[in-house]
Amino acid sequence: MRKERATILVVDDEIINIQILNNALADEYNILTATMGRQAIEVASQSLPDLILLDVMMPDINGHEVCQTLKSNDLTKHIPIIFVTAQSRPEDEIKGLELGAVDYFTKPFVLPLIKVRVRNQIDLIQKTAALESMAWIDGLTGISNRRLFDKRYFDACKYGIRNKRQISIILIDIDFFKQYNDHYGHANGDAVLKQVAQTLELGASRPLDLVARYGGEEFVILLTDASETEGSMVAEKVRAMVEALAIEHSESSIHKFLTISVGATSSPSGVADFDRKALMEKADGCLYEAKSLGRNTVVYADFRPPIID
Ligand code: GH3
Ligand code: MG
Ligand code: MG
Repeated sequence: MRKERATILVVDDEIINIQILNNALADEYNILTATMGRQAIEVASQSLPDLILLDVMMPDINGHEVCQTLKSNDLTKHIPIIFVTAQSRPEDEIKGLELGAVDYFTKPFVLPLIKVRVRNQIDLIQKTAALESMAWIDGLTGISNRRLFDKRYFDACKYGIRNKRQISIILIDIDFFKQYNDHYGHANGDAVLKQVAQTLELGASRPLDLVARYGGEEFVILLTDASETEGSMVAEKVRAMVEALAIEHSESSIHKFLTISVGATSSPSGVADFDRKALMEKADGCLYEAKSLGRNTVVYADFRPPIID
């Protein structure tokens, strides 16, 4: 896995200190700088660096206050901070660490030590980021998993209600997949799941679209800010795309190729709230109907819930 070059924000009111740290670290990292506390908060919020080296004594607001401000902001609270200061009493160090800093460097700088400890922090940040992203990915298909869908669905519902926009839900289930596995083997079944997942991602590829594996051979597409027309259009598009893959399925009772059934619906527009579970159940009901109608079919239905005040 190629690691991206990390970005470090160096904050110190004395230019000479910034220069020393920049010379020591610029070969390996992108360096941003700030010479005042307020400027540090601004740069950190805008650029979201991977790590901050933060001086404690500064003329406007001191490093401890900068740290507290960054730690109380959802956007910046995850950024690790290392204090860099001439204050080297244990109680100063404890105060810094209690405020949420991950390490503490004292001046005058011992550059080889700083380099190693910065590298350790960056390694840890990159490993944590890789683990976090794995928690949202389905191991077999490489697309988002149910856990990420549940989270994004919740966020999308909130967004839709607040902005009076609709969201669309598309549930997909592979037809006669048990027979596919029985006839072609489980490994080929796995390969088909991957291929279908990738095809769905191609079919719903706007920046806010989410395609996730919902269960064994079931997938879900979440379209944020999508009307009934868009929802039903994407549903039919992905059905046709999977059919067009022309994956041989000799055991299918309806087709010589592998097909999917699709159920879709959209949230109501302009309501104060709606029942999120009922919206999913509506899509599931549509999918069930698509199966009953003979499979390889899309059933789209409007969701008209009782309005919740
Ligand atoms: P229908 O057309 O009604 O959807 O029939 P179906 O056979 O697709 O549905 P059923 O729910 O009876 O079977 C689903 C099959 O999906 C059974 C299971 O072996 C298979 N399956 C679920 N997860 C995986 C997986 O990770 N890999 C493989 N290869 N198969 C899986
Ligand atoms: Mg199923
Ligand atoms: Mg199925």
